Amino acid sequence: MTTALESFVRVSVHWRYKGQEGWYHERDGRGSCWEEDGELNTFMWDEGNYSCDCNRARFFGFVAFPCGDTIEVLEIVPLTEENRG
Ligand SMILES: [Zn+2]
Repeated sequence: MTTALESFVRVSVHWRYKGQEGWYHERDGRGSCWEEDGELNTFMWDEGNYSCDCNRARFFGFVAFPCGDTIEVLEIVPLTEENRG
């Protein structure tokens, strides 16, 4: 039997910056998005450390950015074990 946490192993983050868009696929989604009870919690991306350009740039493959809020996150999509790549 798998718990809700185990069945959601990753998330994909859809980002946009100055007309560019892309997806960042987090290999282990537990780090930034998952509560211990298996609920998706996007606080880290909405308000926490990952809401800042300097961290987002690193994840999304840009060269280093200074702190700021110019890189948008459009949506955060949980991937289940069944559909992970
Ligand atoms: Zn920053």
